[in-house]
Amino acid sequence: MGPPGREPSPPRGSTVTLAIGIDVGGTKVAAGVVDEDGRIITKLKRSTPAASPARTEQAIADVVAELLGGHQVTAIGLGAAGFVGADRATMLFAPNLAWRDEPLKQRVEERVGREVVVENDANASAWAEARFGAARGYRDLMLVAVGTGIGAAIIIGGELYRGRWGIAGEPGHVRVVPDGRLCGCGNRGCWEQYCSGNALVAEAREFARRTPEGAMRLLQLGGGMPEGISGPQITRAATEGDPAALRCFQIVGGWLGQGLADLAAILDPACFVIGGGVSEAGDLLLDPARAAFERALTGRGYRPFAEIRKAQLGQDAGIVGAADLAREASRSVEPQTTAPSSPSSGPPGPGSFMRSTSMAKPATNAATAQNAANPDTDQPATVATTR
Ligand SMILES: [Zn+2]
Repeated sequence: MGPPGREPSPPRGSTVTLAIGIDVGGTKVAAGVVDEDGRIITKLKRSTPAASPARTEQAIADVVAELLGGHQVTAIGLGAAGFVGADRATMLFAPNLAWRDEPLKQRVEERVGREVVVENDANASAWAEARFGAARGYRDLMLVAVGTGIGAAIIIGGELYRGRWGIAGEPGHVRVVPDGRLCGCGNRGCWEQYCSGNALVAEAREFARRTPEGAMRLLQLGGGMPEGISGPQITRAATEGDPAALRCFQIVGGWLGQGLADLAAILDPACFVIGGGVSEAGDLLLDPARAAFERALTGRGYRPFAEIRKAQLGQDAGIVGAADLAREASRSVEPQTTAPSSPSSGPPGPGSFMRSTSMAKPATNAATAQNAANPDTDQPATVATTR
C-alpha cells in the first residue's frame, strides 16, 4: 500500500506499466487496460453467457485478446463473483454463474496464452478503493457492497484477508434475524435479506400494498402497481424528499449500520467503504447507517467511530483492482506457482472460526476434501482433539 496522498504508487522505472483487469459478474464481462495510477485507458464490455462455464471463459478470452491487440501489458487480473479457493485458481462456487469447482485460472490461461491472476470480485474492488479510491491511505478497512445482495472484502494491515479456504468476507450470510426471511443460500434471516437492493424494493412494495395513499409517488413511478417499483425509482423518490421512499432508506440504512457495528466488534476497522448499486443513493443510505452504527457500537463514547464512506470508483472498481493485484503479483517473487499468502501447512492461524463457518456454508467439494485431507494444519490442538 502506498502512503496517502495524490501519488499512491510512484513510477518505478521510466515507462508506464499497464495491466488488464477483468470483472466477471452474473450478467456481464467488463475489462479494461489500467495504468499505475488506477486510470482506465480502454474499456470493453460483453454480456456473460452465464449458463456455460466454457462460453463465459471464451468471452473473457475474447475481451483479453482484443485489449492485447492494442496495448503492451505486464499482467492480467481477473475478478469474478464467487468463492475463489485458497489456491487462487479454482472457482469453488459462484451463485450467479455455472462455475462449480472450476479450474478457472488454468482454463482462462489456456485460452489467453498468458498468466492470469484470479481474485474474488469484492476483494478486487476493495483493493481498488484502498489504493485509489475512498479508503486511500487506510490499512484496516472493510468494503461492504450493497447490491442485489451483499458483497464484502476485508483488508487488514494493508493486505487482503482471504481466510483459510479463500472465502472470508461473506457477512451477507450472517444470520441477523432468527427464523427470518428465507435467503437464496438456503438459510433464514441472513443480513442481505434486510440490507440490500432486494430488501429496499421489498420494503417499498410492501408499504405501497399496505398503505397506497402514503405511497402515491412510488406508485406513480412504478406504473401504478407495487410490483412495478424498482430500486432506482425509490432512490429518485427519496432524492425528491418523498417520505415513503425516505422511510425505506431509513429501514435498510438502519440494518446496514447495525451490521457494520457487529463487524466492528470483530474487526475494528478504521473505515467501511460502502459500494454496490444501493450506495448510489449516497447519504440517503449512509446517514441512517451512521446513526444506527453509532447507536449500536459496543463501547460507544469510549472509542473512535470508524469512517463510513461511499465507494468512489463505482463499477470500475473491479477492473482497477484486478489489474493492480495482477501487477503487484507480477512484481513479487519471479516464478510464483503457489499463492504466497495461503500456505497449506503454515503456522497456527485463525482456524477454528473459519472451520465452523465453512461447515455451515453450501458444500464446496474442494474445501471439504482439503479439510479431510489436512484436518489439523491450522487448528489449535485443543480444538483438533475434539474432532
Ligand atoms: Zn444467506
